[in-house]
Amino acid sequence: MSELMKRILRGENVLEELKNLDGKVLVVSMKVPWEGIQKYIFWEPDEIIWAQEMELEIIESMEKELANFDWVVGIGGGVSCDLAKYIAWKKDSPLVLVPTIVSVDAPFTPSIAVRENNVVRYVGNIIPEKILVDYRIIRDAPKHLNRAGVADLLSIHTALWDWKCSAENNNEKYDEKIAREAKECLIEIDKMAEEIFNVTPRGIDTIVNLYCKEVELCNIFGNARPEEGSEHIVAYHVEYLTKRQFLHGDLVGFGIFCMSRLQENEIEWITGLMNRCGIKYKVDHLMIDEISQTLLGLKRFKDETGLFFSVIDVKEINKEFVDQILIELNQT
Ligand SMILES: [Zn+2]
Repeated sequence: MSELMKRILRGENVLEELKNLDGKVLVVSMKVPWEGIQKYIFWEPDEIIWAQEMELEIIESMEKELANFDWVVGIGGGVSCDLAKYIAWKKDSPLVLVPTIVSVDAPFTPSIAVRENNVVRYVGNIIPEKILVDYRIIRDAPKHLNRAGVADLLSIHTALWDWKCSAENNNEKYDEKIAREAKECLIEIDKMAEEIFNVTPRGIDTIVNLYCKEVELCNIFGNARPEEGSEHIVAYHVEYLTKRQFLHGDLVGFGIFCMSRLQENEIEWITGLMNRCGIKYKVDHLMIDEISQTLLGLKRFKDETGLFFSVIDVKEINKEFVDQILIELNQT
């Protein structure tokens, strides 16, 4: 069993673990997940702060004003967990994470993602003491939010293509064995798609187990190459352009939809798999002109932000490509 797996407690009432935390406890959460856990546990921390955004300047000054705590507990989705990771890392406090949805891999990855001028940046690493996966709470969340989590795994599909492309065209180190093992995650999702769609305990477990496997593979390799490719660049560019918050999994799904087409990489299979898992790659409230701008300006955005080498560097995105994407998005 991996080091990370040993720290994950899962079941129907693992929330009770929170009562065993000695000393002063800071909770980082949002209103909805915090209210969501109230029906399962009667427990008060010493202080609660509400996570809103991850812009570095804002969270830096917020962290400085906080006292020291014996424990930092993140309860919620990606933003709550990322902010809790950031505060615990800065304060050098032990961390507990309680993902209330499995919508992103953030609670399971050691890297701390913040935003600087709306562009993602990784500032450090932290490994939580415990990750509490309470099935009751996760099942209470809207199904779509949980299904979206599989996008951070299906990203392996486009990321592996990009990685190989970078090895061939940009002299990047490539590890055949890690790539093969990452690919196995996709095969597992293919097998479990129905459970994932229905958010059954087996479906939730599949996502959690595969997040752990993915984190381990990225650890062995040294960075997120096996799971983060051009589909994430698309997601980051949408955030940057629109300055709005979207569900990360939706944006990554949209990125997979577009980039698998640019790569000409098993388009039907991956699109079908996203459909079977219930990923909404057709992102709500993302306008047609925003889709065009995202794709047409992708290379420039990548160059300006210094993000990694991918299909974006070897294939041109022109107006015909964008028009084709718009047509296909409409057909689904
Ligand atoms: Zn992601």
